[in-house]
Amino acid sequence: MDRVTLIIPCYNEEPVLNALVASLEETLPKFAADANVSFELVFVDDGSRDRTSDILRNLRFAWPSRLLVLSRNFGKEAALTAGLDAAHGDAIIFMDADLQHPPERIATMIEKWREGYDVVYYYKKSRLGEASGSGSSARLFYWLINLGARVDIPPNAGDFRLLDRRVAEALRQLPERERFLKGLYAWVGFNQLGLPFDVPERADGGPSRFNSARLLGLAIDGLTSFSVAPIRLMALFGFAISILSVLYMIWIVTETLLLGSPFSGFASIVVLVVFFGGVQLVCLGLIGEYVGKTLLEAKQRPTYVLKESVTLDGAADASPSKSHSNGAQDTVALSGNDA
Ligand code: UDP
Ligand code: MG
Repeated sequence: MDRVTLIIPCYNEEPVLNALVASLEETLPKFAADANVSFELVFVDDGSRDRTSDILRNLRFAWPSRLLVLSRNFGKEAALTAGLDAAHGDAIIFMDADLQHPPERIATMIEKWREGYDVVYYYKKSRLGEASGSGSSARLFYWLINLGARVDIPPNAGDFRLLDRRVAEALRQLPERERFLKGLYAWVGFNQLGLPFDVPERADGGPSRFNSARLLGLAIDGLTSFSVAPIRLMALFGFAISILSVLYMIWIVTETLLLGSPFSGFASIVVLVVFFGGVQLVCLGLIGEYVGKTLLEAKQRPTYVLKESVTLDGAADASPSKSHSNGAQDTVALSGNDA
């Protein structure tokens, strides 16, 4: 029987955990029976400041299950990496805690995996409640990142995906500490299948755990850790400017010698100086990003620090031989604790 590991990162997810657990308990036993798989659950508490950890700690599942508590908030990429390091499944599924990655889709992912795909990912068709303006900046981001890259990072593909054990192993082997998973998924290759889906609202209707500043940071990280295209563009831009300036110089010489026009152009000089001052600062900043990346990697600090690893399966519980149907009771106990 194949074992499928679900990895669920949680950062301040107290409001959605009840719904998540209820949904898992409704769907998983059925999928396990239909597809003849057993599950393993790995929750990662990414330094939550609410009661996420307390709630998760009291859950009991019929399958081998674990809660990893990170020592602080390391970010989703690090949380997923922690989960990956603890997973034993033949296939591994990354899933958000907020039900924006509906557990009902797990059955399809397992089916496609059995058909021979090593990676099955969902990409968003639309994202309800998201500002429409974010579309073009996202497009620019993917265009830049895929510019001249050997691997294509599919736009709008998130972390809702199934990875075969071999893919997971390949990801684990990658030595980089700062992880831009969207890029790494593409980098490792293998047989990948993308499926479209409509991303629902968060289960609690609340805001994303990523604010725009953090998203911008992630985008710059992704860009600089996956592509040297920005540096190439700088070089190309510099080259184009040099050619233009030579042409301009020829024009000025001709103008002065042949037409005898007097010195003029204070305003254009100021504009040019300010413009190139700006361009140079941007370019320096970009180079700084790459140097910073190198520094962070050179330090070889771990991607995350584990504070605690808690067993959540029935085996560790006082009462032995729990069946899947006991799940309902667990939910009751959970809501009881909650009250
Ligand atoms: N998350 C995390 N660490 C963080 C931020 C988010 O583990 O620093 C988790 C979060 O709990 C959720 C998933 O990553 O399970 C996606 O977060 P969210 O739903 O807020 O983001 P979005 O839906 O906008 O991608
Ligand atoms: Mg979400």
